[in-house]
Formats: sequence, C-alpha cells, structure tokens
Amino acid sequence: MIARVIVDVPTAQTDRLFDYEVPHEWRAFARPGARVIVPFGPRRIQGFVVALEQTSEATKLKPISEVLDPLPVLSEELLELGDWLAKTTVCYKVKAFFAMLPAALKTKVSKQVERKAALDLLPLPLQTLFADHDVVPWEEARSLMKQDLSLLKTALDEGAVSLVYKVTEKGAKKTAKLVQALPKQVEDIPERAKKQRELFCYLQENGPLLTKDALQQSKTTRATLKALIEKGFAEETDVEVYRDPLQHEQIPPSAPLELTPAQAAVIAPIEAAIENGHHEAMLLHGVTGSGKTEIYLQAIAKVLEKGKEAMMLVPEISLTPQMVTRFKARFGDLVAIMHSGLSNGEKYDEWRKIHRKEVKVVVGARSAVFAPFTNIGIIIIDEEHETSYKQEETPRYHAKDVALYRGRKHEAPVLLGSATPSVESFARAKKGVYRLLSLRERIKGRPLPEVDVVDMREELRRGNRSMFSGQLLQALQARLERNEQSVLFLNRRGYSTFVMCRDCGYVASCSHCDISYTYHRAGNSLKCHYCGDEQPMPKTCAECGSDHIRFFGSGTQKVEEELARLLPEAKVIRMDVDTTRKKGAHKQLLEAFGKGDADILLGTQMIAKGLDFPRITLVGVLTADTMLHIPDFRSAERTFQLLEQVAGRAGRDQLKGEVIIQSYTPDHYSIQLVKSHDYEQFFAKEMQLRKQGSYPPYYYMALLTISDTELASTISAAQKVARYLKESLNEETVVLGPVVSPIARIKDRYRYQCVIKYRHEPKLQEILDTVMRHYLRDATNKKLQISIDVNPHFF
Ligand code: ADP
Ligand code: ZN
Ligand code: ZN
Repeated sequence: MIARVIVDVPTAQTDRLFDYEVPHEWRAFARPGARVIVPFGPRRIQGFVVALEQTSEATKLKPISEVLDPLPVLSEELLELGDWLAKTTVCYKVKAFFAMLPAALKTKVSKQVERKAALDLLPLPLQTLFADHDVVPWEEARSLMKQDLSLLKTALDEGAVSLVYKVTEKGAKKTAKLVQALPKQVEDIPERAKKQRELFCYLQENGPLLTKDALQQSKTTRATLKALIEKGFAEETDVEVYRDPLQHEQIPPSAPLELTPAQAAVIAPIEAAIENGHHEAMLLHGVTGSGKTEIYLQAIAKVLEKGKEAMMLVPEISLTPQMVTRFKARFGDLVAIMHSGLSNGEKYDEWRKIHRKEVKVVVGARSAVFAPFTNIGIIIIDEEHETSYKQEETPRYHAKDVALYRGRKHEAPVLLGSATPSVESFARAKKGVYRLLSLRERIKGRPLPEVDVVDMREELRRGNRSMFSGQLLQALQARLERNEQSVLFLNRRGYSTFVMCRDCGYVASCSHCDISYTYHRAGNSLKCHYCGDEQPMPKTCAECGSDHIRFFGSGTQKVEEELARLLPEAKVIRMDVDTTRKKGAHKQLLEAFGKGDADILLGTQMIAKGLDFPRITLVGVLTADTMLHIPDFRSAERTFQLLEQVAGRAGRDQLKGEVIIQSYTPDHYSIQLVKSHDYEQFFAKEMQLRKQGSYPPYYYMALLTISDTELASTISAAQKVARYLKESLNEETVVLGPVVSPIARIKDRYRYQCVIKYRHEPKLQEILDTVMRHYLRDATNKKLQISIDVNPHFF
C-alpha cells in the first residue's frame, strides 16, 4: 500500500505529492484526509494523505513514520474543498488544509536527543546535558554543545545518543481522572477505616465519577481514595474530557415563536428548499429587529427534523453571549460554539464534537464554515456584509464563497442575511442570482428609530470644542432623568490615538513599519499595531526635544473622561479592547449593563451589533465620518452599514428610540440616508458611483502586494510582476501600478502593490498561480514575498 502525501514544508512550499510506503501497523489508519508524520530529507515533517495507491513511479520508498489521526480529520469533501480553495485563492494546498482545521491540530514535530548509553560512559559535557533528563530538546542540546558540536555528532554516530521526533499538539486534548468502585463488598474494608468505607459506598451508588467531583461530594480526601485504590476497592482511569465554554450556565429552553405573516412568507421558500434537499442561494434583507434570527432558528429546527446538520455563521464581533444563548436555549447540547474567545483547547473540543457527530448545529465565526459535518441541511450567514468573513491571511478566502461551494455539494440552501447587504450581494439578488427575501418592518410594527444628524462644524463655529454636541448632551441628560439607557458609539476604525509634538508636529511612529504608534494608557506606552513593538511613552520630542509631546485623537478612555466631567452623575460602562481583554469580561460588562448597573454603555465596534436591551432609547455616534476618509472604494458602504447597525440598537422594545449622529460631513449620502433608513436608495446611489469608477460589482478586482527588505529590489520585483501581468492578461483588463502600498513598510519590509481590474478573465487563476510559483522561485533574493488577494476587502 502506498500513500500519496502532501507535505508541510515551509521553505520550499509545493503542491507536489510524495509517495510513502504504508507499514503494516498503520494500514488501518492511513486513509485519505488523515495527518501523518513522514521522513523528509533529514527531518520528520507533517503531511496529509490525499490518496492511496497500489503502485508508485518512485523507487525506494520511505515508510510513513506515524499516522496522527485514527479518524481522518479531513473528509473526502473537505479534501476537495481544499483543492478548490487553493486554486481560487491562489495558495498552496497544505495551507488550505490547515486553514480548515482547528489550530490545536497544527502539530509541530520537535526534534529531541535521547540518551542510549549509560550516563557515565558519555563524555563529560554530555553527562551534564543528560544530568536531569534522558531526553533533551534538540535546540537545548545544540546550544549547550555549541563549543563542541562534533562531540554530539560522534555520540550520535556511535549510538550513545539518538535523535527522536516528537509530536506536540498544543493544548489539544484534556484528560481528567475518573474513579469507580470495583465489584467488592464494603464489609471487606476494615471497620476502623470509616472514611474509606464511606467513599466506597458513595462510589458504588454514584460512580463512575470524575475524581475531583467524587472527593468533593463525599467530602473525603485524596489520601483516602489512594488507600482505597491500593487495596483494590476502586480504580482510577484517565478519560478525555471536553472543556465546555458554557459549562456552568443554566440556559432555560426557549420555544419557537409564532411567526408573523411577513416572517411566514419569508420562511416558506427556505423550508421548501430544506424539505426538497435542493441548493439555492437566498438573500434575506430585513431591517434590524425584523425577526431574522427567529427565522434562522426555525429553519434550523426544520433541518434537524430532516435529520441533517446546520451551520450558523455570525461575525466574530456579534458572537455575543446574548446571541449564543439564543441558540443554546433552542437546541441545547446539539450546538457547538466556535469563536476566537475560546482557547485552542476549547476550540478543538467543539470541533471534535462535530467530527464525532455528537452535535448537529454549529454557531461560529468565519472558520466554522469548515465544520466537518457530512450531511449539511442549511448554511446561514448572518450579517453577510461583514468584513470579518474575509480572511486577511493566506488562504484569503471569503466564508460566503465557501458556504456556496459546500451548499452546492450538499444540495442545501445557503441563506445570507443582513439589514444592510453588501452591494455585491444585493446586486446579485436584483439580478436573480440569489433569491431575494425581504422583511421591511420591525416585529410588532415597532418603528425604526428617529435619526438626527448634527453638524459638528457648526458646533465648532459656536465655540463648542467638546466631543459632545449640545444636542447629544441634552439627550443623554434626558435619559438620565427618565432612567433609560444610552449607547455611545465611537468608531475606532480610521481613528488613532497617536502621539504628536505640539511644537514641531513630529508624530511618533514605529521604526519597523511606516505607521504611527498607538498610545496605551495602561502601560503609559506606545504600541505598534502591526508588529507589536512597544516603547515607553517619550518625555520629549525625538525631533526637536520639546516636552510638549502629547497623545492625540479620541479614544474611548478620553470620551469616558469627558463624560465624567460633563455628566458626573452618569454611571458609565466602557467596552473596548482594553476592558474586554480578560476572558469573560465582555459578557460580564454586558450583563451588568443589562441589569441596569449603568446608564451609558460606551464602546467601539464591539457594541455595534447584537445588543438587544429594552431600555436603550438613545444611541449617540460620536463621529460618523472617521471611516469615510479611508482610501477604499467601499468606505461609504461601510459607513452606511455601520451607522445603520448602531442605530438598530435603539428602541427595540416598547420604548421609542432616538439616534444622534455627529458628523463633520453631514451631507454625505452615506450619512443622510441613515435618516430615512433607506437601504435601496443607498444601493442605487452607490451602484451609480461603482459604475463610474469601474469598481465591483461591475468589475472584479485582485490585489498583489510585493514586499522585500530592500526598497530597490521591492520596486524592481514589483515592476517585473506588473510587466508580466500586463503582457499576459486580456486587453480590456486594467493593471494599476506598481505603486507604493497605503502602508509603505511593515515589519521592516517595503511594500508595493498592483491592482487588477477585470470583467472576464478566464485565465486569471492560472496567471496568478504563475506569479506565485515562478516569481518566488526565480527570485535570487529569498526574502521576496508576494501576497495575492483575489477579491480583496481592504486596500
Ligand atoms: P433581527 O435578527 O432581525 O434583528 P430578532 O430575530 O432579534 O431580529 O427579533 C427582534 C425581536 O423580536 C427579538 O426580541 C425577538 O425575540 C422578537 N421576535 C422575533 N420574531 C417574533 C415573533 N414572531 N413574535 C414575537 N416576537 C418576535
Ligand atoms: Zn518636536
Ligand atoms: Zn511596527
């Protein structure tokens, strides 16, 4: 038996398959989709079996060293998906395979040195090395023997020590001890050993139990248990346990609501597709609070009735406890949860529940689209316009594309939902590529909140230099008096809290990346958000020596301080990356706000979605236009989407909602149209501009970023790439650049980019593939990197 293996070689990445012999002991496990450890040159590396063959063209095959998975981690379908992903996003297959698996399975193979001969037979330096352990990590051995590596080599040659390869799966499995009583009589335990008798009886009645539970509940000690085990009355075994992220939650079950006529009309075609097992892409356009989530829940219930599995994708940022609770309440233990707040181990546990078919529903962020289900009945993507569905590293895939691919394979409907669909999706729905379903009103005829736009330039003219307009301040005051709650939203994107010298205008920026440092109050330090570099806050300007160096911009902390000054009686909860860093903090803060512990919830993007609290009657947006000025053709779309989302937090229950948007460009259509909540008009306006500028959805785009440590070689490589693209692509395809990237340098690497705009380019993948393989291999400079992003989300 011969296994064809795709190997994980970081230096010379390749999609080439290598043949290995499958030794007898691994025959049962070496199946397509299983991870294996194989010898590769002098090393042991990881790979995936992609096929089994009887014969091979290669001579002298080496055997597989180990099969890591008793049950293949990639199904036939996922292996195919990996191929497709590699092809469409232009990356190496092994990268695509790993992207589909939880991080805990990205096994590292580490090299170790093991002592084979008696300690005192070894030369002295080696005796020191092995003084405490018989096995020492290779790196440690090497650094200790730095002076005399030949000694180590001789020992290896003589067989006094040998090299071993060890597989380390970081944070993978978690085990616990299970204790159970053995079939014996309690009378056989001496009467004076009262504690042991008690424990034994307890175990007989309640066991098997996790050891720590057994000890706790029967109020005995470890010593007692040990004695019991030694006498042969009980037995302890290691078991694998799942880390349940919601272990200590009591979630009351919820029953399906009776659908409104509008909801019923929308769910009918979805249920029909589920019933008939037929693939169709649908776009559910429903205003905030129109009951989309209830539709999702009932569609999933229908899928479960059919004995199939359901995938529910939500943006990372709205995977809030409130959201998760709604699914757990309806489907209980049938739900696995996957999001970045979980540890690697927890993620792996949730993944395994799916892999072992212990759950039927997954609620998760982007990567949950790879959930190893085998009988999918529906894939739902909520807030389908969200940018977090696009992965910003290799493979640069979009969850929507993967969902559509899997939906076709499984003959299952794919439901995209949003109050503000992406322009591209809505255009597809208008053309009939997706079936358009609409919910135009909020549940129970509740009105959408009234929106006011405040011109902040006018405020300045009137001498108000505060971050709060008079109108917003008054509205906040009124909520305090009526004991209602407010949400204050500060758009972090496009904003930065940079440090600037007031005398000379010098801005402190990272010496490795052409980007200004962000001030962090917690450590009174400066941090680069691209490379993580951290510096103490300077006391004087590096340019002119002045001590008038201050931080600028408007972070949440600054708003909080100003609030304390303007409305000293208001209780404020602040939610941003700093206050939610600790595990569970996000949830605690929201719960506190829900309980009414605060009057104002102040936060960034993370409070824009999913919040559903009845007493919120005011939403204030501090500056609406920070994002508008990002040089990206989607900036107006993102502004509209975000404002509409934030506005949707107000007046969701009986109390009427009000929204106040502060802006320096109040007449911009993306801000004005939020007033009338008019998505369709926004869409029409935006499409007009997209057409004029030859942007998606009229044109497709691809972005190539060329980077290197030397400026000159970056430019010449970029020029070479651009020339090749211009020569090989169609005539009506436009190749822009090379130009310097918006951030000209990151982590000491210079960056240039080319943008491709095309309508019909059947050979594009092939051409980009050539760029990836050919230009990198040919480069005399090994440091050259080319990243390729088909349908980029950011420029
Ligand atoms: P969306 O996901 O569109 O924002 P939700 O599904 O969260 O809307 O619904 C908004 C509110 O209306 C929620 O509190 C929800 O429980 C309630 N709701 C949804 N459907 C119904 C229904 N058919 N009858 C009564 N209440 C409903
Ligand atoms: Zn200065
Ligand atoms: Zn940096």
